[in-house]
Amino acid sequence: MNTEMIEKGLAQADQTRVVEVGRGLLPRSGALIRDAMATADQPMLVVADERTWAAAGEAVDASLRGAGVEVAAPLIFPGSPALYAAYEHCETIRERLRSAGAVGVAVGSGTLNDLVKLASGELEQPYAVVGTAASMDGYTGFGAPMTRAGVKVTMPCPAPRVVLFDLDVAAAAPGSMVAAGYGDLSAKIPGGADWLLSDAVGWEPLHPLAWELVQGGVADVLAQPKALAAGDPDAYSGLVNGLILSGLAMQVYGGTRPASGAEHYFSHLWELEHLGQDREPPLSHGFKVAIGTLAMCAFYERFLARTLTADDVERALVGWPDWASVEADIRSRTSGTLAEHCLKETRAKYLDRYALAVRLGGVLEQWDALHQRLVRQLVPAHQLQAMLRQAGAPSAPEDIGLTADRVRETFFGAVYYRSRYSVLDLARELGWFDQLVDEVFQPGGLWT
Ligand SMILES: [Zn+2]
Repeated sequence: MNTEMIEKGLAQADQTRVVEVGRGLLPRSGALIRDAMATADQPMLVVADERTWAAAGEAVDASLRGAGVEVAAPLIFPGSPALYAAYEHCETIRERLRSAGAVGVAVGSGTLNDLVKLASGELEQPYAVVGTAASMDGYTGFGAPMTRAGVKVTMPCPAPRVVLFDLDVAAAAPGSMVAAGYGDLSAKIPGGADWLLSDAVGWEPLHPLAWELVQGGVADVLAQPKALAAGDPDAYSGLVNGLILSGLAMQVYGGTRPASGAEHYFSHLWELEHLGQDREPPLSHGFKVAIGTLAMCAFYERFLARTLTADDVERALVGWPDWASVEADIRSRTSGTLAEHCLKETRAKYLDRYALAVRLGGVLEQWDALHQRLVRQLVPAHQLQAMLRQAGAPSAPEDIGLTADRVRETFFGAVYYRSRYSVLDLARELGWFDQLVDEVFQPGGLWT
C-alpha cells in the first residue's frame, strides 16, 4: 500500500525521482544513488556529522566507492553541539561542493538534509539524501528553513532527487527523534481539517492526489503509538512512509498546504522566540508541533460544539472590524518584523463586509455537511493527547518549557501569522474567536 502510494506520488512529483525505504539498504545505497543521480561526470561528496557518519555515512561512502563512483573527501561536522540550520553552514557545504566539483549526498536528518538541499539548490545541481531518523516530513519536501542574519526564513530550493531510508539505521536513532516524527505526523489531523475549511470557502481547493498521499495512511500510523515507542518494525516503517508521503504531497501540490495548517504557526512563533534552542539537543520541530496540534484539536472541538445559524452570521457582519481596527490589534500584539509580517499576511486574507457576507453565507449553507466532514477528520483532543504521551512526545505545554498561558497567548499571534486560511480565521470572521480560545483553557480542558 505504502510503496504503491509512493510510486503514485513520484509519478507526479517533479523533483524527486527515487524513494527507497527498507531494511539493510546501506550496502546497496551506492549503486542506487549512482543510477538515480545520473551525474556520471561528477564525483560525489558525503556530508554528515560525527554521529550520522558513524551510523550510516561511512557505509554510504564505502558503498559509493564499491559501486565505482568517484568520491571526494567527506565533509563531517562535529556531532556535538548539534548542528544548527544556519546559513553559514550552508555556505561551508556549498563552497566545499564547488571546489570539489562534486554533487552532495546528505547523510542525516532534518538539519543536514536542509543544509545540503539549500547548498545544492544554490549550485543548481541535484543531491541525494540518506535519512537517519524519522523525525520530520522534510526529507521529500522542497525549501529549507534556515536562520540567516538572525531571522528564520524558508529559503526556496528543490527537493532531493534521491531519498533512501534504511529502517535499521533509523531504528537505532534516539527514541525522542521517533517521537518527534510522530508529533509532526499528528499535525496532519488538524492541518487536514484546516485544508477542508479552506476548500469549503474557496480559498485553497483540495488537490485530490496530494490529499490522498498525505491523509491516506495517517490515522493507521497514529493509531500505534505504543508499538512505535517499543520499536516495532511495522509501526516504524509506517511512520517513515507517512512522513515521506507527506513531503511528496507538498511536491505534488507545489506548496506546504497538504502538510501543515495553523498548528505549525504555533511552532513557528515559538521558534522565533528561540524556544528550547539552548537545550542539547535543541527542542525539535516535531515536539513544538505536537503542542500546536493539541491546541488546535482542542480549538476545533470547541468550534464544532457550536451550531451556526443565520443569526450568528448577521451578528458577525455587524461586528466585523474595519481594516484599521485589525491593524491596531496586530500592532498591539506583535512588534518589529513580526508585526510587519503579520500585517502583510492578514491583509491578504482580509475581506470587506460584502465579501464576508458572501463567504459566511456559503459556510452557513453547507454547515451540516462541513461539520460532519470535520468531525470525521479530527481526533478528540484528549485522545490525541494520550496517544502523543504513549509515543513519547510532549502532551502538555510544560513538556516543552511553556505554560498554558503562553499557549493561550500564541493563539492571538497564530491567527495573524499566515495568509493561509484556517479555523482560526473562520472563528474570527464569525466573532467567536476570543470566546473559543477562552473555552480551550477553561477548567476541564486539556491543560487545566
Ligand atoms: Zn512539520
